[in-house]
Amino acid sequence: MNIGFIGLGIMGAPMAEHLLKAGNTLHVWARQPQKAEFMLNQGATWAQSPAALAARVEVLCLNVSDSGDVEALVQGENGILAGAKPNLIVIDFSTISASTTRRMAELLATKAGHWVDAPVSGGQKGALTASLTVMVGAELAIFAQISPLLAQVGKTITHVGDVGSGQITKACNQIVVSGTLAAIAEALLLAEGAGVDPARVREALLGGSAHSRMLEIHGARMLSGDFTPGFKARLHQKDLGIVRQTAEELGLALPGASLAGQWMNALVGAGLGEADSSALITVLRRLNGLAHRAAD
Ligand code: NAP
Repeated sequence: MNIGFIGLGIMGAPMAEHLLKAGNTLHVWARQPQKAEFMLNQGATWAQSPAALAARVEVLCLNVSDSGDVEALVQGENGILAGAKPNLIVIDFSTISASTTRRMAELLATKAGHWVDAPVSGGQKGALTASLTVMVGAELAIFAQISPLLAQVGKTITHVGDVGSGQITKACNQIVVSGTLAAIAEALLLAEGAGVDPARVREALLGGSAHSRMLEIHGARMLSGDFTPGFKARLHQKDLGIVRQTAEELGLALPGASLAGQWMNALVGAGLGEADSSALITVLRRLNGLAHRAAD
């Protein structure tokens, strides 16, 4: 299959590599061309613009940062709409808002194309090992067409419903993830404040009902103080902005998610936007006047 890929970052780079290794012909574009060199070295082909890319593929994958980035790629000068042929399928792996997603789908439909929202969970590790959870919003017939391709990057693939429902699912995921992250940071800090070894506390919790993959991976990052991303705090902040915006559109109160959003604001405000979001424990340490560890 001829596949295009835009967004070769922490998540997109390994996903594109899996698609190439699975035997697809890969075409790429990047706003900083040097970031695509590693793909060209493996046999991918360069396209001069998103429009040129859209014109030569059957499926175009996106994995960029935010709603505005997807809008710019679709509607901008030399954008995807300008090159889209009938029956083009755009699979958007980025985490963006459901309302933007539905608007993009309508625009693409004017070119007889099909939009699939397919945000992922599982982090960098899931992307590297092709074991991501993929939450899909799409027409059923289109989902059937692309599910073999999704299986090349993910393990748990769920068709949730129509276009937009994948992004709603991801927003739900981020409510759970951010609440858990804040709870882990508080638990480890309580242990430390009480003079009990936080590493032993984490070990004990991993055996009981508090076990989670977040406690495994992000708990370990908090203990080591290694906040190499991972999942950048500014992207986590963006996701909670999407949750807030969606709740506002629906007239729903989600107080826990709002609090988690405030934590992410504090993290980015503290200059840690490019760090992994488990650096949240650093903000909590500062709030409590605890001495910084060297790693913080
Ligand atoms: P990242 O490392 O910052 O990569 C983002 C990529 O998108 C970069 O290659 C960037 O190009 C490109 N990009 C952004 N805006 C663009 C635009 N307007 N035009 C062209 N290219 C653009 O981020 P990531 O961690 O891979 O995350 C990508 C998406 O996956 C986000 O929506 C994020 O929320 C979601 N996600 C991330 C994780 C995670 O653990 N990292 C997990 C699940 C979901 P430049 O290099 O030029 O900046």
